[in-house]
Amino acid sequence: MNPIYLDHCATTPLEPRVFEFMRPCFFESFGNPSAENMQGIKARETVLDCRKRICAAMGIADGRVVFTSGATEANNLVILGLGRFYKELGNHIVTTAIEHPSLLEPCYNLQEQGFEISFLKPGADGRIRPEDVANAIGSKTTIVSVQAVNNITGIIQPITEIGEICRRRGVLFHTDATQAIGKMPFFPGQLPVDMVSVSAHKFYGPTGIGALLVNENNHAEFALTPLLYGGGQQSGIRPGSMNLAGIVGLTTAMEIAIDEQEEQEERAGHLDELLTQSLNLIDDIHWCGDARHRVKGHLCFCIPGIDTDLLQKALLSQISFATSSACGAGKGEPSHVLMAMGFSAELAGSLVRISTGRFNTDMEIKRAASILVCVIQESRCKSLL
Ligand code: PMP
Repeated sequence: MNPIYLDHCATTPLEPRVFEFMRPCFFESFGNPSAENMQGIKARETVLDCRKRICAAMGIADGRVVFTSGATEANNLVILGLGRFYKELGNHIVTTAIEHPSLLEPCYNLQEQGFEISFLKPGADGRIRPEDVANAIGSKTTIVSVQAVNNITGIIQPITEIGEICRRRGVLFHTDATQAIGKMPFFPGQLPVDMVSVSAHKFYGPTGIGALLVNENNHAEFALTPLLYGGGQQSGIRPGSMNLAGIVGLTTAMEIAIDEQEEQEERAGHLDELLTQSLNLIDDIHWCGDARHRVKGHLCFCIPGIDTDLLQKALLSQISFATSSACGAGKGEPSHVLMAMGFSAELAGSLVRISTGRFNTDMEIKRAASILVCVIQESRCKSLL
């Protein structure tokens, strides 16, 4: 029997309905969208149609969709590409200390080149304060980037308020929405947001395809600067043969995620209740962030005194979840997110992240919760972990 999968923030399985739409792209409809033959022309029409459907699903009236290999590339395109473009205008970027490494690392790279980057810290509730963003914006600020939902805590950030500040101050606003799609109502076309990063494998689409969505009512699209150079595809912004099956997969997965968002959110909330009822039996459990601002289906907690990496190893064949090592910087360090929230390194080192998904059953959840509670309580008695 496979372990119960509770790590949907890391990746989701492909939705079978999505695969049905992707299948022809591998066989009869496999053309290169840049080619002028019949297969190519048809593939190009498919890409055009996907772009329109993505904008419709996101509520964007006039949008540009740059297909990338995932959110990592979309985030790099924003920070490195736009950062360099706007360098003459101003070399200051405002972001947060709790962004995903795919946003932080390009910022560190720009820092080495002389850029000034403000990394704002959240409160103990896990939320960035809009007034901190307002105070950080200066005359040299060109871009503000704040994630929609944190990938460790699941905390929703106040991006509407932050976007409004950016609009008033005339700076571009980017949000990494990788963890938001399908989990909460999210229509960037109706928000004061200029650019959005998404990644299909976080919402039951295929891995290896993502996008940077650009609201065309601003100057961001003119400033997009490529990271790669090659055949001129996607107006030269992101050259390389387009991943047709991936594009169809991303589009279909996004439509399903948006269509079914409300019912999935309700179901995830129900699974959260089942889990929290049991997990609250653990002495000293320390929930991370303010639950009132957390997406459903995402639980993050610390268990003081427990080495959760050992816990993960002990439960490897039974439950799949994430711990400090997956959520840290990948160098055996505690999560930078929890550290920025003011946790001690010791507490942050005992982190567990459980993220449920579309195909989890009540039975699985009850079973996983009781295993976790039993093993943790027992190991505390015996000091095993
Ligand atoms: N941003 C966030 C918030 C994420 O959770 C992730 C994936 N963990 C990424 C960016 C990177 O996405 P990808 O691996 O698809 O490039």
